[in-house]
Amino acid sequence: MRSSVAGSETLDLEKLPSNHKTYICKHVFNTDRPVAYVVVEDGDLSLLCGCYDHEESARDYKVVGLAHLIKRQPDILEIGELFDGWQAERLEDGCWHKSPIPEAAN
Ligand SMILES: [Zn+2]
Repeated sequence: MRSSVAGSETLDLEKLPSNHKTYICKHVFNTDRPVAYVVVEDGDLSLLCGCYDHEESARDYKVVGLAHLIKRQPDILEIGELFDGWQAERLEDGCWHKSPIPEAAN
């Protein structure tokens, strides 16, 4: 069974398999920074630090199983469902705020 909204997939973070392919930035990989920005784009789940100092090269990103991140930071599950094309940002109030990904500026 799969749910869809306006033709796009929804990822339910609580129901994904523990080995679900997840992209993380090198800061999260090295545990330099917590996950503060989660995005689903074209079905790909990315858990990133939310800062803007990433290179565009693949070198800055790693692929891991989702369970590794959740074990380290269980509050990621508070996001629950995320539509394809949406993002969730952890703001200073400690809550996740979901919104559609803004159109790329360039
Ligand atoms: Zn980062």
